[in-house]
Amino acid sequence: MSNLSPVRCDHSANGYNLDLLSIFGVLLVLISPAVGSYLGVLVDRLPRGEDSVSKRSACRACGHPLGLGDLVPVISFVMRGGKCRYCTAPIPPWHLYIELLAAGLTLIVVLLSPTLSILLVTVPYIWLLVGLFFADLIWFRLPNPFTLLLLAVGLLHAGVEPSLTLLDGLLGATVGGLCFWALRALYTAIRGREGLGLGDVKLIAGIGAGLGLSALPYVVLSAALTGICAEVARSYLAGSDLTATRRVPFGAYLCGTAVLVWYANALY
Ligand SMILES: [Zn+2]
Repeated sequence: MSNLSPVRCDHSANGYNLDLLSIFGVLLVLISPAVGSYLGVLVDRLPRGEDSVSKRSACRACGHPLGLGDLVPVISFVMRGGKCRYCTAPIPPWHLYIELLAAGLTLIVVLLSPTLSILLVTVPYIWLLVGLFFADLIWFRLPNPFTLLLLAVGLLHAGVEPSLTLLDGLLGATVGGLCFWALRALYTAIRGREGLGLGDVKLIAGIGAGLGLSALPYVVLSAALTGICAEVARSYLAGSDLTATRRVPFGAYLCGTAVLVWYANALY
């Protein structure tokens, strides 16, 4: 009968949960470079309106279809010196960076996630932020499939994260989205041109959904400061003037600071 005592059962359940946490943690780290590679495909194709599911991978320069040996994350790029095996055209290095970043961030999430449910929701949330970061940096675009999924996964994250509630997520998404939408409308009315993209409105809703309303001021302020510093540095290095009409990938800065705020919350 003692084996059926509530204490014994709780202990077994925790041990079982811990084992699953370790197993899924290792699995997610192992698949993360491949996920990074697929995120790269999505970032490359979604803004061009190309099929991202059934279309076979091929070299952008010569059109040669890529085999399994050309698609091994990180290793294929390094072994071929960042060049196409068939025509030696250079492959944009961000394909390597997105695989490395997805793997590195997944490892950190695995190490910091205390429960299986938090792990299984946070990892895809971070992957989506990685995809959005690169899409905005390269194309100045925040594709709808990424932002809308971020909103859905964000609400799930708010639901499982002990320091948040689903209501925090809903408030973060609504207030964040409305504030950015109002800012966008105001800027357009005053200046007569678009200052903040609709993608940024959806992105901040997704970030607010996942991190809650109270995190948004930190995310937006840090993104604005980082963005100003980075753009000033970029202009200085390029020897060009920083003008008010220059396009800035503000969404990429929002994604970066959202990940940092998640880590800060997880650590402290
Ligand atoms: Zn080629």
